[in-house]
Amino acid sequence: MTVAVIGAGWAGLAAAVTLHQKGVATHVFEAAPRPGGRARTVDWPASAHTPDNRLITDNGQHILLGAYTATLDLMRALGRDPDTCFLGYPLSLEHARGSFALNALPLPAPLHLLAGLLRARGLNGRERLALLRQLSSVRAIANGRPLPAGLETVQAWLVHGHQPETLIQGFWAPLCVAAMNTAAHEACTRLFSRVLADSLTGPASASRILIPRRPLGELWCDTAIKALSQENGASRFYPGTPVRGLTRQADGTFCIHTTRHATDTAPAKTSGYSAVIVATPPRQALRLLANLPDPPPAANAAAEQAETARSPGALRRCLEHFEYRPIATLTLLLDQPWNDPAPMLMLHEDHAAGFRGQWVFNHRHYDGQSRLSVVISDATHTSHLDGEALARAVIAQLQAQTSTRAPLPRIVAHKLIIEKRATFAAVPGLVRPANITPWPGILVAGDWTDTGYPAVLEGAVRSGLAAARHVLDHRTQPLGTP
Ligand SMILES: Cc1cc2nc3c(=O)[nH]c(=O)nc-3n(C[C@H](O)[C@H](O)[C@H](O)COP(=O)(O)OP(=O)(O)OC[C@H]3O[C@@H](n4cnc5c(N)ncnc54)[C@H](O)[C@@H]3O)c2cc1C
Repeated sequence: MTVAVIGAGWAGLAAAVTLHQKGVATHVFEAAPRPGGRARTVDWPASAHTPDNRLITDNGQHILLGAYTATLDLMRALGRDPDTCFLGYPLSLEHARGSFALNALPLPAPLHLLAGLLRARGLNGRERLALLRQLSSVRAIANGRPLPAGLETVQAWLVHGHQPETLIQGFWAPLCVAAMNTAAHEACTRLFSRVLADSLTGPASASRILIPRRPLGELWCDTAIKALSQENGASRFYPGTPVRGLTRQADGTFCIHTTRHATDTAPAKTSGYSAVIVATPPRQALRLLANLPDPPPAANAAAEQAETARSPGALRRCLEHFEYRPIATLTLLLDQPWNDPAPMLMLHEDHAAGFRGQWVFNHRHYDGQSRLSVVISDATHTSHLDGEALARAVIAQLQAQTSTRAPLPRIVAHKLIIEKRATFAAVPGLVRPANITPWPGILVAGDWTDTGYPAVLEGAVRSGLAAARHVLDHRTQPLGTP
């Protein structure tokens, strides 16, 4: 049995290494020259201000949470120790201006958060109680308790919960956009509640913040690709190999059609796959599934009944309906490390003042570099600015909002990355497909499938694992055969 995985993002790689470790030969086809997808590592052309004249960054600053158990377990299974891979510390949300700070304490749950809340800076008694009241409802909502009509967006849910405006602006709204990449007035209450329930109302370890100490490409992708080349030797990774089509052969197996590149080693056509996991973003998945003939009604009905697969038409419509939100990351190279004690600080977003940065990360604490990364999630509102204007505005904001902290070193260079389709918009009513498709033997995987999470690494990994599990559960019978 050989399985094809299309796309080497975290979902595709999670599926591939799981199958490989269970003895299933797995071929991974990736369009880009490097694996990693939206969490890829980029090696920029020479920068005079960095060691070796190279600037290696992830395409955006990523953080993980202790609640990302599937991701962390998979890393362990691949021989990577999260304790050394990440800077991990108890939840800490602190404003750069010092006006607000909420730090979880090293106590068992829920005392870690309760004690943190009692000692929080910048909250009055009413705000503390309101925050606690709102948090106490998230687990039930995450578990499916019906939401009263009109409370589907985070903003409406917060207003209904009598959250003071200061708390919404200073705490909830920044947390929502960071977690969901979707602003509170349009973000989905249920998905947000899922994130809060898993991270804040679970064990104390779940709320820990984990910041990668090395580029994600090295921590995860290289490790996964290396694992694929070990043991049975039958698995393959084909980088720089976009898949342009998928057909089914008379014997029920699948044929992958690739765009052959002069430099790659992938054959233009590879056949005989018992199953295919399409782990690309939705638009590319739609293209790959668009030309498949509809499965016979019996197979279609069986698939729909067995799991929550949709009809071909419904799945295609579902893939079309995703909307996307950008994330901008400004990396600032400093002439020396910034001597500030916090690895990660909130910035005050104030569009009237031209301030659009939301979080600043101080690399000194996790990779030892003299660098800062400023993140702007749901960056749609920056689209009218050119890159230089945005960088200048963020630098001005940083200087204004860190003026009471350790002096900022001189900024010697900067690099702005804007991922236009960073994540799907996590809005209410969004229909997300299951891994199973109406075509027996074809599965989909990605952060956009029905993971219960917004678009995050953990969702991508869980989706890849679920797709692999399905393949493994059906390995006794030929998957491609209806
Ligand atoms: C700037 C930024 C910051 C983020 N910050 C965080 C964060 O802090 N924490 C967090 O948990 N998540 C964060 N995310 C989200 C996280 O990166 C994604 O949820 C995750 O990477 C999605 O993985 P995936 O495998 O589902 O999809 P993708 O990463 O999109 O992988 C899909 C892969 O398919 C490939 N592909 C597409 N078409 C084809 C084809 N025809 N043939 C072959 N290959 C193809 C693509 O090249 C890509 O490699 C962030 C995302 C961005 C962009």
